[in-house]
Formats: sequence, structure tokens, C-alpha cells
Amino acid sequence: MYQQDRFLPPYSSAEDVCPICKSDRYLNPGMKLLVPPCYHKMCESCIDRLFSLGPAPCPVCQRILRKTNFWTQRFEDLKVERELQVRKRIARNFNKRPGDFKDVRQYNDYLEEVEDISKWIELDFF
Ligand SMILES: [Zn+2]
Ligand SMILES: [Zn+2]
Repeated sequence: MYQQDRFLPPYSSAEDVCPICKSDRYLNPGMKLLVPPCYHKMCESCIDRLFSLGPAPCPVCQRILRKTNFWTQRFEDLKVERELQVRKRIARNFNKRPGDFKDVRQYNDYLEEVEDISKWIELDFF
């Protein structure tokens, strides 16, 4: 009846395929994808194979990664994950305290500025 179902096996989507070894959750239901700082996620067995001897380049973008850099994807949506990272980075770069300002008004202006920058970075980022 639904012809297209033949081409879409259950439990499988583009999101659930390891780009390195092409194994997916349909073939390997226990597979876990982990995300490095460059967001080129890959499965645990690839990470073991590539990074167990020490830092090595990401197979996609050649950025040097370590096994400990990978984190378990906490959200289905990578965008959410990415936004969290952006916000963390902003918090690191804009970490002034109220004491750094002459008065509360200046501090509030600064907070508004940070909020504006966050919005811009998000727009830019996606
Ligand atoms: Zn893999
Ligand atoms: Zn990469």
C-alpha cells in the first residue's frame, strides 16, 4: 500500500548512520553515535579504531581530535546541542561581573549587548 516504505527501513534515518563506517541503527541497533567538537559525529567503534592510540584527525574535516573530546549526543536535534555550545562560548568570552562597571545601568546595558550578540551568533551559525 505505502510503496515508499520499502525504501525506508524502520529505525533508520540519515541522522542515525555513522558517516565513517556507514553502519546504521538498522544493521547495528546497539550503535551509539558520539559528537566531537567539530560536530562530525561517528559511532563508538570508529572512535575506538581511530582515536585509541591518541589524538588523530577527524576523517571528515581533518581537525585533530581526542577520544575524550567526544560527548554523547544529549538531544536528537544537533542544533540544540550546537546552540548550547555557542552559549557556553559566549559565557566564556563575555564573563564580566557587576564590579567591572561603574554602575548597575552600565552592567544592564552590557547584559543586553551580550543577549544581542547571542542572537546574532545563532543566526549566523545556522
Ligand atoms: Zn562507524
Ligand atoms: Zn570533523
